Amino acid sequence: MIRKLRVKRVVRVPAVRMKMADIPPDDYTWRKYGQKPIKGSLHPRDYYKCSNVRGCPERKHVERALDDPAMLIVTYKGEHNHTLYVMQPTTALALESS
Ligand SMILES: [Zn+2]
Repeated sequence: MIRKLRVKRVVRVPAVRMKMADIPPDDYTWRKYGQKPIKGSLHPRDYYKCSNVRGCPERKHVERALDDPAMLIVTYKGEHNHTLYVMQPTTALALESS
């Protein structure tokens, strides 16, 4: 069985109000499901999964950049198995025409 490689995307974003809970907003809804300490860092890594749709395989984890505590590193893994517009039908109408 040949499947395409899992997608992994990493972005750095400024930490909002220096709180780990302030994960950068994106277009999806996320639910935290785990946390793991990082060696050499005071801050744990938080794990989130997409909660727009039950069973969506998309995951992301958020950790503080070791070289810059004002930045968060967000790693996305997998792909959504649904469109963005589950929760936002109004937006969908505006964007899907492009
Ligand atoms: Zn999803």
